[in-house]
Amino acid sequence: MAARAKEMKASGIDVISMSLGEPDFDTPLHIRRAAQEAIDNHFSHYGPVPGIPSLREAIANNYQNYQFSDVIVSVGAKMAIYNAIQTVINPGDEVIIPMPSWVSYTEMVKLAEGTVVPVETTFEENYCLTPDKLRAALTPRTRMIILCSPNNPTGSVYTRAQLEELIAVLRDFPEVTILSDEIYNALVYDVEAPSLASFPELADRLVIINGVSKSYAMTGYRIGWLLCKNKAFIAACTRLQGQQLTCATMVAQKAAEAALTGSQECVKEMRQVFANRRELICRLASEIPGFKFREPQGAFYLFPDVSAIGSGDEVAELLLDKAHVAVVSGSAFGCPSCIRLSYAISTDEITEALRRIKSVLTHN
Ligand code: PMP
Repeated sequence: MAARAKEMKASGIDVISMSLGEPDFDTPLHIRRAAQEAIDNHFSHYGPVPGIPSLREAIANNYQNYQFSDVIVSVGAKMAIYNAIQTVINPGDEVIIPMPSWVSYTEMVKLAEGTVVPVETTFEENYCLTPDKLRAALTPRTRMIILCSPNNPTGSVYTRAQLEELIAVLRDFPEVTILSDEIYNALVYDVEAPSLASFPELADRLVIINGVSKSYAMTGYRIGWLLCKNKAFIAACTRLQGQQLTCATMVAQKAAEAALTGSQECVKEMRQVFANRRELICRLASEIPGFKFREPQGAFYLFPDVSAIGSGDEVAELLLDKAHVAVVSGSAFGCPSCIRLSYAISTDEITEALRRIKSVLTHN
C-alpha cells in the first residue's frame, strides 16, 4: 500500500498519507545543536558496547530503582527488542503476544526460532489482554510475554489495576520474562500510562523498552534502549551487542542525552499538538458510516473496526483508490477487521482526509 501510495503521489495524485508511524515534527533545536556539538567535539570513535555512561545514567534517572548498569543503549527500540528476544528465546520457546500488535514482535520471535502464541483481544476489551486469556495461553514452554502500552496500533493504555491482574497470573510462572514496550509512554491523553517498572516484584524478569524516536521526534537518530535488573540478562545481551554492533552511533547518543537532560517543554508541546489532533480526528471519524472505534488513549493512531463496510484490506484499498488516502490495514497487525489511521499529520490534512473518507464511504 505504501509503495502504491508513493507511485500515485509520483504521478501527481494528491494522496494524503495516514500510514506514518512517526511524528511529523522536526527534532527540537537544542537536540540538533547537541548533535552538531558532538561532531565538533570529536565523538567520532567507538564507545562502550552498552552505551555512553552519561546517557545510560540519564535513562536510569527516569526510574526509581534503576541505575546506569541496568541499561543497554541500542540502534532504536527495535534493536533493543530484537536483542532481548534473541537473548531469552531458544528454538521452540513460546512467546505470548496479545493481538493486535506491532508487526515486528512476531517476526523477531520467528528469527529467534521461537513459537509465537498470539492471543486475540477484542474491541469490547479495549484491545487489552485479560487475566483469563493470559492464563489460558500460558504453558510450561512459555518464556516471554510482550506487552505494549500505550499500544501501536490500538492506542490502548493498560490501567494499573489491569496490570496488577496480569502480574497476579504471572506469579505462577516465574520463568516467563516480561518485555514491556513503553516507547509511546510520553504520548498519553487524559490517562496515566503506568510503567511496569513500578512493580518491584517483577524486577528480575522485566525488560523495559523505550527510546527517543516518538517522544522527541528523533526516529532517524536511531537511539532506543532496554532496562533490566537481571545481571545475567544484561551480561548476555551486552555480549550479543558487542559482536553485532559494537555500539550505537556516538553522535546520536549525545543527541539523545541532550533530549533526556534538557528541558522537557518540547515533549509537552508535541503532546498537546497530538492531543488536539486526536480530538479532531475522533470528532470527524464519529461521523463516518461504518467506523466503530474507541478514543485512543495514547500514541497517535486511530484504529476503527470497519467490518460493517468490508475487510481492513478491502477498505484500505478502497480509501486509497477512491479517496486518495493511504491507511494501513489491520491485517498487518493481526486484526483484519480494522484499519489504522495515523494522526501524525497536520490538522488541515486530517480534516481533508476525513472529509474524503466520509464522502467515499457515504456514497459507497
Ligand atoms: N515499538 C513500537 C510499538 C513501535 O511502534 C516502534 C516504531 N514504529 C518501535 C518499537 C521501534 O521504534 P524505534 O526503533 O524507532 O525506537
